[in-house]
Amino acid sequence: MKRKGVTALTADCHMHMVLDGYDWKNAIARHKAKPDDAFIHKALQTYRDMGITYLRDGGDRWGVGKRARELAHHYGITYRTPLAPLCLAGHYGAFIGQIYQNLKEYAHLVVSTREQGGDFIKIMISGLMDFDHFGVLTESGLSPDLIRELIHIAHEEGFSVMAHANGARTVEAAADAGVDSIEHGAYLDKDALAAMKDMGVIWVPTLSTVGNLRGKGRFSEPDVEKILDSALKNVNTFAAMGGLIAPGTDAGAWAVPHGNITEEALLAQAGVTAEQWNKGISAIQKNF
Ligand SMILES: [Zn+2]
Repeated sequence: MKRKGVTALTADCHMHMVLDGYDWKNAIARHKAKPDDAFIHKALQTYRDMGITYLRDGGDRWGVGKRARELAHHYGITYRTPLAPLCLAGHYGAFIGQIYQNLKEYAHLVVSTREQGGDFIKIMISGLMDFDHFGVLTESGLSPDLIRELIHIAHEEGFSVMAHANGARTVEAAADAGVDSIEHGAYLDKDALAAMKDMGVIWVPTLSTVGNLRGKGRFSEPDVEKILDSALKNVNTFAAMGGLIAPGTDAGAWAVPHGNITEEALLAQAGVTAEQWNKGISAIQKNF
């Protein structure tokens, strides 16, 4: 068995079994009829060989994460999945998530996540970075009132909440509402970082999703560099504040195949120590 690479990280706190890091449409097509066990076994084997013992999936609506959870114990891996990420109609995430039109539908989806055995709730509350334009998001975030309600409803059902969120005001609103983890978190400012620290929010900055774009020629290189630089600075500041930071690659995202090991180097570059990321991993494992 050829080792793909070894990392000091023992957990990947944000990955997507349904995706493959190359082409999301082909990746999803692979599992559409039913989850492709051969693909899942291969990915789990890769993680095991890397020394990973805990995976937290970012979700999909085809049951791929759920199937991976059933198989993960063969590999000594604890696997957590929200089942599908929950997305407001007309906003980012529809390609992979379950759509709700209003809070009533959202509340139903939270209950059905419980009935179908989801481990936590994943909400999508902002757009993505525009990798060709530093500072720009593909859409603005949901309103702070709505974000508060989404988190409150999930907590009332006894779930922890993982939020896909970029932009300072969106992240600040989610932190103030008691979100359990923030995923990505591009373009944060002092107030957003302070809110996360005060509320004990775990930040999973998924630096690989930006770092791995370097040199690929798909996006504007100077903009990619600037986006990465601002993320590294914010992670450095948050670490210095004593904030909780956990490693997550977003494996499955473009240029981040399963088994990618750049997250460790990027966290180290941001000044996060192994002791700090292990503290973040423990916090994720406790809450998720
Ligand atoms: Zn993700």
